[in-house]
Amino acid sequence: MNHSTQVLGFIGLGVMGSGMCRNLVRKSGDPVLVFDMVPAAIEDQVRSGAQAGGSVAAVAQVADVIRNTPVPIEVFGFGSLCVMVEGRCALSSYVTGESPNTRGVCSPAKAVRWEKHGEVLDARLNGVLIDRFQPGENAGYPTLCKGRFDVDDETYYAIEDPSSLNAMALLPELAKIGVAAIKIEGRQRSPAYVAAVTRIWRAAIDAYAKSPERFSIQPDWAAGLARVAEGQQHTLGAYHRKWK
Ligand code: SF4
Repeated sequence: MNHSTQVLGFIGLGVMGSGMCRNLVRKSGDPVLVFDMVPAAIEDQVRSGAQAGGSVAAVAQVADVIRNTPVPIEVFGFGSLCVMVEGRCALSSYVTGESPNTRGVCSPAKAVRWEKHGEVLDARLNGVLIDRFQPGENAGYPTLCKGRFDVDDETYYAIEDPSSLNAMALLPELAKIGVAAIKIEGRQRSPAYVAAVTRIWRAAIDAYAKSPERFSIQPDWAAGLARVAEGQQHTLGAYHRKWK
């Protein structure tokens, strides 16, 4: 991906903000990424020479990091989401004795057991029931934080839904703010998974580089990624929602 030296982010394009932003675009000489809850306000600034940002997080956080470091920045683009703050998740250790903190592995495969009871499929981790799949449900890997648990008489994904981050919709914004590389999750994944995901992302990045203004996500890319996404669901994760 291309790497620019300085990108400015501007959030809030109301009465005051719109004039200030227009000035910034005209006088700074730097690319200006803009974001507002009102799409028309963004379009108005784009007509004045600004670039549309995908979300508050994409504009404010990634652009800010890139502006303040000479180091090429990589962002997470596709794969299973982990809600832990590095080194602080004890869930996997609690149930299996091994975790990313101790062994670089969460919910290790050797602790996984699949049990069929009639039409129902149980997924267990070191004997602990993590999820129970009814006929027709997509059975996901029993990662502890993505299990269905009984909480206050309700059984649901109490910590996190099984879904994969997919930032492909943000690819143009990531390229514009100077992101140097996209990280694709591959740890604990099969070679077939890695090959499928990287092939699709390679095609998307090449298509954007060849013709940025004509870039759009091709249906076969979306279908290919959906097939390997956790729970066959996608999310923009922390790119569009606040980190908790
Ligand atoms: S249990 Fe979930 S949050 Fe904890 S390390 Fe594993 S994937 Fe991350």
